[in-house]
Amino acid sequence: MLKFVDIEAKRPDKREASNRRQDWDEVYTDYVSEKAIEQASRCSQCGVPFCQIHCPVQNNIPDWLMLTAAGRLQEAYEVSSATNNFPEICGRICPQDLLCEGNCVIEKGFESVTIGSVERYITDTAFENGWVKPPHPENERPESVGIIGAGPGGLAAAEMLRRLGYQVHVYDRYDRVGGLLIYGIPNFKLEKSIVARRAELLIAAGVEFHLEFEVGRDASLTDLRNQHDAVLIATGAYKARDIKVPGVGLNNIFMAMNYLTASNRKGLGDNVSKFDDGTLNAAGKNVVVIGGGDTAMDCVRTAVRQKAKSVTCLYRRDRVNMPGSLQEVTHAEEEGVTFAWLSAPEAFVGDQSVEGVRVVHIHLGVADASGRQTPQPIAGSSHTLKADLAIKALGFDPEDLPVMFDAPELEVTRWGTVKVDWSSMMTNLDGVFAGGDIVRGASLVVWAIKDGRDAAAAIHRYIAAQAVPITRAT
Ligand code: FAD
Ligand code: SF4
Ligand code: SF4
Repeated sequence: MLKFVDIEAKRPDKREASNRRQDWDEVYTDYVSEKAIEQASRCSQCGVPFCQIHCPVQNNIPDWLMLTAAGRLQEAYEVSSATNNFPEICGRICPQDLLCEGNCVIEKGFESVTIGSVERYITDTAFENGWVKPPHPENERPESVGIIGAGPGGLAAAEMLRRLGYQVHVYDRYDRVGGLLIYGIPNFKLEKSIVARRAELLIAAGVEFHLEFEVGRDASLTDLRNQHDAVLIATGAYKARDIKVPGVGLNNIFMAMNYLTASNRKGLGDNVSKFDDGTLNAAGKNVVVIGGGDTAMDCVRTAVRQKAKSVTCLYRRDRVNMPGSLQEVTHAEEEGVTFAWLSAPEAFVGDQSVEGVRVVHIHLGVADASGRQTPQPIAGSSHTLKADLAIKALGFDPEDLPVMFDAPELEVTRWGTVKVDWSSMMTNLDGVFAGGDIVRGASLVVWAIKDGRDAAAAIHRYIAAQAVPITRAT
């Protein structure tokens, strides 16, 4: 260990941008074993590991780095998977610069340990070697838990509850398991097969998936409460924020999720004609994407791969104030995306369909109550950018669950997120728990995993407190 002095930080090889633009494969290649071992050995085994403190699932990072450096990969996998249900997913898509790696305290002048890449390597190796097994509980329990939502939050909870022997039923309105991991996040960040193999493990473990099952349409929340001993709401946040400017109703202006879902479905070989008449495609078009988060970055990079003529990202603040990961911005720039910083849309212009976006330059004024500088339009700075396709990626709010679930008694915050008692993850309804984006607002995969794990533990405590006898497995 402590080799950071002699060994430079090195991520797995990054594919050339010119090649990346041509396909949907992931940006980074796999680590070869020697590199992973070498990179893990850079860790200085801090007594107070800030990397771990800033990892939402509190991964025992120094331990699995040390085991990797010693070539004890199966043990590294066991330590890593003890705190994270999907380490290979987090290793790929966590914004590590904002979490573990951004807080690695290797001495100034040396780059952080490449924690995410090593985490991914450990679990990918575990899959290759057959070490990853479906969880099989020691004892079956008679109680059942209904989970609404098969995104990372719901899936993490499903796995934890199944390990404890509960009969787990997951309901999802989509036709595939994975939530935003499948229909939001594009392949070049997370290949679908990585998610699908996790779904297969859960099915093999006995988790029952009820797909194309929409709570609110196919059953009410009350129905599920009557069927199960506890219910977890992990439905994510899907109500897209819109923008109120003249011309917003023109053709060829789309919400980001519609655009990304169509693209992800095409990649999966689905027939998308029901919701895409061919216009949800950037090929040959001048594309303008509005927004500065992960979703906007996924849209611009999808448009590049669809062979857009030009791709511009409009963001009203500057690069350092982007809500998304800076690593993603760098990838997008390498792939040919133009960033119009400090720029906001004033109007969409065109006759029937959008032909341009009128943009005004922004000056960042004094900080507001949240500490962020307020964007102020600069008078006389308007100009028009050519656009045949505009995509609005302005963030998401939760849907109106009390209405959607026919459960007006379910308490939500003024932002529409479901209210929970954080110490028990329980909502105001007895036996109904919630976690992930529906509680936090649009957030991160790793936070959804943490909530799923916490909710599973809370559900276990709740059911155990009802003192129902345990049935031993035969
Ligand atoms: P979701 O993943 O949204 O899953 C919720 C599930 O509930 C869905 O499958 C949905 O179909 C289902 N559902 C909803 N309502 C009902 C109902 N009434 N009945 C039945 N089922 C229902 N995070 C990162 O960490 N890194 C990234 O790089 C990243 N990129 C992103 C890119 C995009 C385009 C988007 C939109 C998000 C991204 N995120 C990223 C955020 C991350 O995807 C979410 O924070 C995470 O998926 C939340 O997990 P969840 O389980 O709470 O919800
Ligand atoms: Fe870093 Fe995310 Fe892995 Fe935690 S789960 S160690 S934050 S990559
Ligand atoms: Fe190792 Fe960096 Fe974590 Fe310290 S902060 S334990 S050096 S990875």
